[in-house]
Amino acid sequence: MSEVQDAVTLVVTKAIAAWTSREALLCFGVMALLVVLTPRLRSAPGYWNRGLLTDAAYTFFYLGGIFSFLAAAPVSRGLNAVVARHAPFLDLDLLAGLHPALGFAVLFVAMDLCSYWAHRATHAWAPLWLFHAIHHSQTQPTALTNFRFHAGDVFFRTLVQFVPFTLLGAPAVAGVPLLWITVPLTVFLEALAHCDLGWTFGPLGAVLVSPAFHRVHHSAEPRHHHRNYGIAFSFWDRLFGTADPTVQRPAAYGAPGMDVPESFLRQLAYPVVGLARRRRADSAASVRRRAS
Ligand SMILES: [Zn+2]
Ligand SMILES: [Zn+2]
Repeated sequence: MSEVQDAVTLVVTKAIAAWTSREALLCFGVMALLVVLTPRLRSAPGYWNRGLLTDAAYTFFYLGGIFSFLAAAPVSRGLNAVVARHAPFLDLDLLAGLHPALGFAVLFVAMDLCSYWAHRATHAWAPLWLFHAIHHSQTQPTALTNFRFHAGDVFFRTLVQFVPFTLLGAPAVAGVPLLWITVPLTVFLEALAHCDLGWTFGPLGAVLVSPAFHRVHHSAEPRHHHRNYGIAFSFWDRLFGTADPTVQRPAAYGAPGMDVPESFLRQLAYPVVGLARRRRADSAASVRRRAS
């Protein structure tokens, strides 16, 4: 019994620490600012819909440190242990000689490049799309849609990002001054990109993903599919030929053809059920092929 109490105490302590850390409070602050401001900016009817509540549940799941505590932190510790034991040669620590701020900038760009390709993979490979479709299922994107990601989708992206972390040496990041500003600023920009706004950021839009740029990625129109995959930087799309820099508002948002339910828990089960269905259909097809 005392082990259970210890475990509960640990969870509560970690949750309080995560929720009250300077970064988390600032992240919650910028999100609250965006939620308060965006309805006024766009005065959209139906802003306070059920999908917004689902997005809010995701926001607390990720910003509140629940995902990090349950999955990201233990998996990251496990991967580090595997590399240390079986592939220490991968731990190149390439940023070791650089100033921490410069090292962090290089790592940030490398991670964003990996995120770009991971994002493309989630659209290109059907099993991964089942997970990523949840992000696209919101038909009225807002700042909170920035957090509407299935845990499996984030887990996959975290795995891909582990590559630059290992090769470049993430420990250098720990000493970066102003990291507590960089994290909320990144959250702010990525959440802003999900607001249904026509802001292009002017010349800065050639570098950063703006709301006008990212809303094309969330479009339900076929002409916009497989466009504007960038997460923080928009130049990857120009470099790899996936950019559609139109600033016209898509006629509709969402993931056509995907019957994603509008509930946090049911969305958690959605890709798992989809994969099981696909497996059953594949084995039934192979039985039919053998019989004919
Ligand atoms: Zn996507
Ligand atoms: Zn998005």
